[in-house]
Amino acid sequence: MNRVKAKRHVKIVCTLGPAGSSTEVVERMLKGGMNVARFNLSYGTFEEHSRLISEVRLLSEKLKLPTGILLDLPGMKRHVGDTKAIFGQDLDFARSQNADFIALSFISSARQVREVKALLKKMNADIPVIVKIEQAQALEESGAILEVCEGLMVARGDLALEISIEKVPLAQKQLIKEANRRGKPVITATQMLESMVQLATPTRAEAADVANAVLDGSDALMLSEETATGSYPVEATETMAKIALEAEAMLPYEEILRERSQDILPEVNDATARAACHIAHQVQARAIVSFTTGGTTALRVSKYRPQQLILAVTPSETVVRRLSLAWGVLPVRKPEPANLEEVFELAREAALETGITRRGDLIVITAGLPLAVPESTNLIKVHSA
Ligand code: PGA
Ligand code: MN
Repeated sequence: MNRVKAKRHVKIVCTLGPAGSSTEVVERMLKGGMNVARFNLSYGTFEEHSRLISEVRLLSEKLKLPTGILLDLPGMKRHVGDTKAIFGQDLDFARSQNADFIALSFISSARQVREVKALLKKMNADIPVIVKIEQAQALEESGAILEVCEGLMVARGDLALEISIEKVPLAQKQLIKEANRRGKPVITATQMLESMVQLATPTRAEAADVANAVLDGSDALMLSEETATGSYPVEATETMAKIALEAEAMLPYEEILRERSQDILPEVNDATARAACHIAHQVQARAIVSFTTGGTTALRVSKYRPQQLILAVTPSETVVRRLSLAWGVLPVRKPEPANLEEVFELAREAALETGITRRGDLIVITAGLPLAVPESTNLIKVHSA
């Protein structure tokens, strides 16, 4: 297991491309802070993407850095016709690659998202769907869209062309707020460090944009050309990580926890997650350790934005990779504990191994009885690591 250097909550999505992403560069990007690798299917061939995806997975395993694979589907950008004609081939590819997320371009309604999800279901493919908000109608329908997808992307490039550029900064804030309230990950994207396509340092305005996107509440920030084709992909990743780390320290954690408590769900899961965050805050715990079979509990804890890192312990490699996008979540794969004593022992072990706690530090553990049943989180234990 890789010990955590920087305790960053905000995640970084880097777009990779065959021209710029050599093995050496991808390795340095992973070490520099990449959490999710994005492949833009508008460009390149399936073969090229497939080769790079395997490479990322091998490196992720070698470096013991959990990494998600996000396939960004062009949708209407490239094809016309019904949902199947537009997305079918790309969905097949996503399934064959065991993608951790798909992003859907140029979606205009919740209905379209439901159609894609129905197609996925028919294909027996269970892949979380991130909807890119880049159409005026999608912006208007964002509430309904959020109900049917697993996350959003604020796709500022095409959104600016659609609703005019002066409206984009406020649309960004609104979309992030909506996603945060529902506890669904939201990615802020496009031109964040644009000048780093050519230069080794960003502009002051870009640094401010990254910091502000963090303060707006983004779960993740995205790099596009900066890492796919630019001259400084590693520097762009490291720069984004540094700015994000600095900015997130200034998040009003206590206020967010209070505010988010107005968006509680009538679920034991959600209640337990919220209480865990309150306890962690009050006793100044070093970490929250959440046992999660399907990933939902970790997302619920993330929703309340604890100042502590959330160590998500799961036996599933798929869940580890899917949690790569979630704010504050450090996923760790461990075998399913057999009893409650083992739960506490595994939590302690994971917290120490990752280096986020030292012996004697307090950790707050969430788990569920019966064990190994998804969405059954119903207990909290304050433990000494
Ligand atoms: P794209 O989407 O990079 O696939 O166009 C992002 C955006 O429009 O901002
Ligand atoms: Mn776009």
